[in-house]
This record gives sequence, C-alpha cells and structure tokens, in this order.
Amino acid sequence: MAEQTADAVVVGGGTVGAWCAYFLRRAGLARVVLIEKGLLGQGASSRAAGVVRMQGGTPEAVRLGQWSRRFYLSQRDEIGTDSGFTEQGYLLPCFTEAEVAAAHARMEMQAALGVPVQWLSPQDVDAANPTLAPGQTLGGTFCAQDGFISPPRNVAAYTVALLRSGVEVRERVAFLGLADDGTVETSQGRIGAGLVVLTGGPKLAAVGRLAGLRIPAGGVRHQVAVTERHHDLDPAWVPMVFDLAAGLYWRPEEGGLLFGMSNPDEPPGENREVDEGYLAKMRARLAALVPVTAGLGLRRVWAATIDYTPDHLPIIGRARGRVTVASAGGAGMMWGPGVARAAADVALTGSSEVLDVSPLGLDRFDEAGHSRLATDPIALPFPERLTSS
Ligand SMILES: Cc1cc2nc3c(=O)[nH]c(=O)nc-3n(C[C@H](O)[C@H](O)[C@H](O)COP(=O)(O)OP(=O)(O)OC[C@H]3O[C@@H](n4cnc5c(N)ncnc54)[C@H](O)[C@@H]3O)c2cc1C
Repeated sequence: MAEQTADAVVVGGGTVGAWCAYFLRRAGLARVVLIEKGLLGQGASSRAAGVVRMQGGTPEAVRLGQWSRRFYLSQRDEIGTDSGFTEQGYLLPCFTEAEVAAAHARMEMQAALGVPVQWLSPQDVDAANPTLAPGQTLGGTFCAQDGFISPPRNVAAYTVALLRSGVEVRERVAFLGLADDGTVETSQGRIGAGLVVLTGGPKLAAVGRLAGLRIPAGGVRHQVAVTERHHDLDPAWVPMVFDLAAGLYWRPEEGGLLFGMSNPDEPPGENREVDEGYLAKMRARLAALVPVTAGLGLRRVWAATIDYTPDHLPIIGRARGRVTVASAGGAGMMWGPGVARAAADVALTGSSEVLDVSPLGLDRFDEAGHSRLATDPIALPFPERLTSS
C-alpha cells in the first residue's frame, strides 16, 4: 500500500522532467510530485552548451525547436524570470557540394514550416563572419532567430517555476521501481500515482529498467571549452556556427568563444573527465576555421555525459497505461520545453498540439533498439551503440 498519493509523479529533475512537472501542474493537476535522486539540474541540464536551433533536420526537430524558442521568449511573462535566451543567429556552413545539396533540401522543408532560414553565398558567409578564415566554405544556411540559452539560468528558471506553481519537489529521492497498480517506489517510501512520467537524460535506460521497460537511450562523454576574451570575438560580430561534418559548434560567451565537439569514437557510458588529447583536436579544428582562437588561453573546460537516442530524435510516448516516457535525445536545450510540454499533454490526453507524437514513441524501436525512423541528419556524431559492451 502506498503511504502517499499524487495525481502525477515525474522522475528526474532535469529540464525535461522539471518543465513537464510544471506543465502538468499548470494544466490543473492538484498534486504533482517531482522526484530527483540528486539535486535539480545536476544531470546534463546544467552542463550543456545551450544551443537552441530551429534549423532542424526533420519536421519534428523543427517543430520542437520552434515551440521551445517561443517558450523561452514568453517565460518572463509566464513565470517572472527566463532561461536567458539570446537571439544570436546560427550559421551551418557547407564544405562540399553534397552538403550544399542537402542544405538546400533542408531549407525547403524548414521554410515550409515557417523557419526564416536563408542561404548565404560564400561571400555572404565571409562578410557575416569576420573571424572566420575567408574562402573556406561553399556557402551555408543561416537563421537569425536561432540562439542560445544559459543552461544554469534555465535550471534556476525551472526551479522558480516549480516552486511558484506548487509542484512538490523532492530532491535526494531516488526512483526505485513501479508496481503494476501505478505505485511508485522511491528511496523515501511509496507514492500512489495517477500518472507517471519517466525522464532521466543519459540515465533514462536505467530508469526504464527500474520500471520494467526497455528504453533504447544512451549517454556518452561530450566536451566543451570557453576561450579567453578577444576583441574580435565581440558577440556583435560572431554568429553561432555548426561545422556539421566535424561535429564542432561554437557561440559567443562572455567575450570569448564557447565551443564543443563530439568524439565519434568515444565509448558510450558515464564519463566527466576532460580528454586533453581530444581537446587538442577540438582546438585545432576551431583554429583552422577561426584563426584568432589559436593563440587564446582557455577559461573553462568541462566534460559531461550527454543523452542520445539511436536516431537522434526525441522519445515522447506512453509506455503502458499511465506511464509516459520523455527524452530530448541530446537536444534538451533546443527541444526540452517542447518535449516536456508534449510529454505532459500525452500523459494527460494521449496527444499533443506541440507536434504529432505518434511516430516518436518506444514502439518505433525493434528488439535491438534500431529505429524505423530516418536519423535526424543535423546532430552531433554520437555512438551508434547504446552501451560499451
Ligand atoms: C556538455 C553538454 C553540452 C550540451 N549542449 C547542448 C546544446 O547546446 N543544446 C542542446 O539542445 N542540448 C545540449 N546538451 C544536451 C542537453 O543538456 C540534454 O539533452 C538535456 O539536459 C537532457 O535533459 P533531461 O532532463 O532529459 O536529463 P538530465 O538533465 O540529465 O536530468 C535527468 C535527471 O534524472 C535524474 N535521475 C536519474 N536517475 C534517477 C532515479 N533513479 N531517480 C530519480 N532521479 C533520477 C538525474 O539525477 C538527473 O538530474 C548538452 C549536453 C552536454 C552534457
């Protein structure tokens, strides 16, 4: 017998779980309990780079990016604070003819969905990026409305939203399992729950196992660094850039550049140690494209475990009866609020106005975890496998 009851229990205090709990409460549920085994934001959500992009590779990605960006822009009216969204403009340069063709096809899809994306010629790219080594690209796509949030500020924003809206936040309480009658087992007793939403970011597969579910989601090390300041890196002159083929992206940060890159050979699993060898590769690729960075020191370097799914798409769907699963598939800054809202809608009604979630459930994966959906082509090069074994 459960000692307590709730209309909904949400597992995981990252950006997906927290915003989902907030949306459930705002939809009118009287008692929403959020359980987090550590502290709010201590997973991937406080350690991200914060890139928010509507230039998605699939219609689902575009819709989630659009919804989340709108949400970030409306936060102050809604909760009195915000996640620090800055409209910086994002360039995806092309280096080969094949990339140019793919970029034009993507632009057509994005524009049809209302994204104000434009093609920049090689000359336009150089003119818009005075810090970029000239003559490197064959042009690229640019969206002036893309930008970035401050991940720590987003954690602060959702903490405010949770407390103001009356979600019951229980930190240092671990999810331990789920009984057939919907009772949630936690490290501090049982909660009889009307609805259950499972999140967990890079740990979602383990959370799923505790609930008796097989969720094909993984975690892998991802490394980010911030250069020292330089007058050429003034944010007014530096759009965000994603060198897709190399998996390298950068954006302005406090007068320097924040840059991140995923190592395609990194084995899956938790890892937060800085890889100095890989950092040297990141720096070399960045310096080839932004020469001024070659002589700059670093102010910060960190590595953290990023979540991913086999097709780089989110997971949003009911697993069974009253249990809903939500993952942003490694894009929780650009898709997180949209995924959270869609998951709350699905938990409450089975569908969402954010996007058609019917293709995004667990039933798209086969026994081996392979997805029947095409992989989102605009993603960091995460491993193909889910575990290192
Ligand atoms: C270095 C780095 C850079 C990134 N850059 C970007 C970016 O630029 N743009 C972008 O869109 N995305 C980026 N991401 C990805 C983004 O951070 C994640 O997709 C997002 O934070 C996932 O949110 P989440 O709520 O699903 O997971 P998390 O934030 O990891 O939260 C899950 C929570 O669940 C808790 N939990 C786990 N197990 C249990 C349990 N048994 N019981 C209770 N609680 C449990 C964890 O403690 C954790 O707090 C980046 C990630 C990293 C690591």
